[in-house]
Amino acid sequence: MLDKRNLYRMPWSMNDNPIAWLEITDICNIYCEGCYRQRLAGHKPLDQVKEEILFFKQWRNPDNVSIAGGEPLVHPQIVDIVAFIAENGIKPIILTNALALKPDILRELRAAGLAGFTIHIDSHQNRPRWKGKTEGELNELRQHYADMVAEEGGMYVIFNSTVYPSTFDQIPEVVRWGQANLERVHGLVFITYRTGITETSVAHNASGQEVDMKQLSYTTERFDEHFVTSPEVYQLIKDNCPEYEASGYLGGTILHSSYKWLMGAVVGSKKKMYGSIGKKTMEVAQTGHHFFTGTYLAYLSCAKVGPKVFLLSPWDKTLRQAWRHWRQDVLRNPRRLFDSLYVQTIGIIQAPDMLPDGRADMCDSCPDMTVYDGKLINSCRMDEYRLFGGFLSVVEKSRVEAIREPLGQTLEGSPTRLAGDGRGDGKE
Ligand code: SF4
Repeated sequence: MLDKRNLYRMPWSMNDNPIAWLEITDICNIYCEGCYRQRLAGHKPLDQVKEEILFFKQWRNPDNVSIAGGEPLVHPQIVDIVAFIAENGIKPIILTNALALKPDILRELRAAGLAGFTIHIDSHQNRPRWKGKTEGELNELRQHYADMVAEEGGMYVIFNSTVYPSTFDQIPEVVRWGQANLERVHGLVFITYRTGITETSVAHNASGQEVDMKQLSYTTERFDEHFVTSPEVYQLIKDNCPEYEASGYLGGTILHSSYKWLMGAVVGSKKKMYGSIGKKTMEVAQTGHHFFTGTYLAYLSCAKVGPKVFLLSPWDKTLRQAWRHWRQDVLRNPRRLFDSLYVQTIGIIQAPDMLPDGRADMCDSCPDMTVYDGKLINSCRMDEYRLFGGFLSVVEKSRVEAIREPLGQTLEGSPTRLAGDGRGDGKE
């Protein structure tokens, strides 16, 4: 059972955050149902991309720059972008669907200083030759890319997927596949699907004017299913992999009970999983990294850790449990002492939740902030800025009608101000 008191609240903030989210294009070579981006502007010119990287360096203090899109591998200057980030002393990481990933470009990217990939594969993509496959069947494709990156060497790879109600039950198959590849898969991330529902909601811009939210790619007319939450994903993983424990979290910007980001790392060998790191190890990893390098930590650069991973077990009860399991195993079978030990991270992200009153429960200290018009904004909602000049207030239609009626009686003739962001026209 999750309890925030047993987890380390990650120390990340707006201006000191290990992740900077750089969008270099909004063009993509496939379509994903859960995508937040639509094609409006095309590839960003290299000069603009460089300016944004320097902006992050000044205002974000990142350990890595997540190069995203659209699909970043289709940007013609992707190698120059990776090289520029590395020259600035930041780790470049590419977030990709991997369709355009081939051994020759992989070699070039590595030579330019690429630190790793986050590869997005799930069954709600219209990926040529893989449509209609289950998450379990897609493990074959994950294996293909994990092997390709491992063969090139020197880079890490994390696989992420969007979790839909229809694919929720398939998560354990992905976790089991990841654990069978501990030596080459550095992490797994599960992102719960969210969408705006146009049949039952109405959207207003910052001036209170109603806008057509159907213009956003992340809306759908109806959604009768239950949105999966991160605690549910966590419980399902735990039911199937009891060794997994979360150690860190980020809450919501509005709801005290939200688990927007859950972070954990399992410890095991190729033969057996022993347990997880706990909140104390997470705390030491974050503060120690910051002390020695000046930045917080988002990605482990090396999965192979050896028994030194248990160093903090006297202070970390979760890790102590893992150490006990490992010791019992070694006592029973001394040859296990020579088995390599690995750490694999498992992250769960619960995308923004629109509340009935028009506010949105976002990720507190959002790690995926990007630059838009000289400002840092949450990348998952950037298209609201691009299409409507700012975040929308999305309210349930029934609620708007309930507000409109008394307003119509008391404020006859004046513009209707709707629930939401507190920015009015000053006439009230
Ligand atoms: S609020 Fe930030 S971290 Fe959360 S889903 Fe949106 S972009 Fe990602």
